[in-house]
Amino acid sequence: LVEVHGVHKSYGTLEVLAGIDLVVQPGEVTVVIGPSGSGKSTLLRVINHLERVDRGFVAVGGEVVGYERRGDTLRELREKDVLRQRTQIGFVFQSFNLFPHLTVLENVVEAPVHAQGRPRREVEAEARVLLERVGLSDKADARPRQLSGGQQQRVAIARALATRPEVLLFDEPTSALDPELVGEVLDVIRDLAHSGTTLVVVTHEMGFARELADTVVFMDGGRIVEQGTPAQVLDHPQHARTRAFLDKVL
Ligand code: ATP
Ligand code: MG
Repeated sequence: LVEVHGVHKSYGTLEVLAGIDLVVQPGEVTVVIGPSGSGKSTLLRVINHLERVDRGFVAVGGEVVGYERRGDTLRELREKDVLRQRTQIGFVFQSFNLFPHLTVLENVVEAPVHAQGRPRREVEAEARVLLERVGLSDKADARPRQLSGGQQQRVAIARALATRPEVLLFDEPTSALDPELVGEVLDVIRDLAHSGTTLVVVTHEMGFARELADTVVFMDGGRIVEQGTPAQVLDHPQHARTRAFLDKVL
C-alpha cells in the first residue's frame, strides 16, 4: 500500500535519507523509532510530499506521490493535484497544526470540501461522527485555543480521518502533550489500530510500539538499520546501534 523505493534526500551536503526502502501493508501498524536527527520526520514528510525526494520514489495505493507517469518519465504534479493526492495520506503533527481561526468542526470539514470537492452537508455529518469517535462531540463549535493539547490532537486525528485516507502518518503525536494527556490520544490511536486503519507512527512511546506495532523500524543516520516484529527489534535487536538506542530509551 505504501511503498518507499530507494529514497534519498539531502539538505545541502547533509544526507538525511540515505536510501530508504520500506513497504507498509494495508491494515498494518508500522512504528518508526530512532535517535534524534536520524531522519524519521523527513521520511514521513517525503511520504506526504511535504518534501521532495532527490532520488527514488514513494507510491501510495499504486500512485506515485507528487508525480504522474507520462510514458516512461515522471512529471511533477501541479499544486492542486498534490493537495488532492495528499487527502489520501493523513498526517498528524507533533504540534497539532489546527487552523486557529476555524472552529473544530470547520477544521475537520475543510479538506474534504475544498481539496476533495465533496458536498458540505454530507461531510459535516461525517465530521460529527468522527468527533464523536474521538470523544469531542461537545466541542464542535469551539476554537482550537479553547481546547487542551490532548483535545487539539484528537481534533487533528479526526481532521486527518475526514478525507478517508488510505494511510495515516503520525509524527510524535504525544510528545508535545502534558503527561496526563498522553493516554487519551494513545487511546484514540489504539482504537484506529484495532479497526484496521493503516498507520505509520513515529514515537518514543516504546510501550505503544510493543503493544500495537506489526512492524518496528529502527532508523539511524538516514538508513533503516533493522526492522521486524516488536519482539525481534525491541527484545532481540541484531545490531549494536539498535541495542545502544534501546539501552537509552527503555
Ligand atoms: P527528531 O527525533 O529530533 O524529531 P528526526 O529523526 O525526526 O529527529 P529529522 O527531523 O528527519 O530527524 O531530521 C534529520 C536531519 O535533517 C537533522 O539533522 C535535521 O537537522 C536535518 N533537517 C531536517 N529538516 C531540514 C531542513 N528543512 N533543512 C535543513 N536540514 C534539515
Ligand atoms: Mg522528528
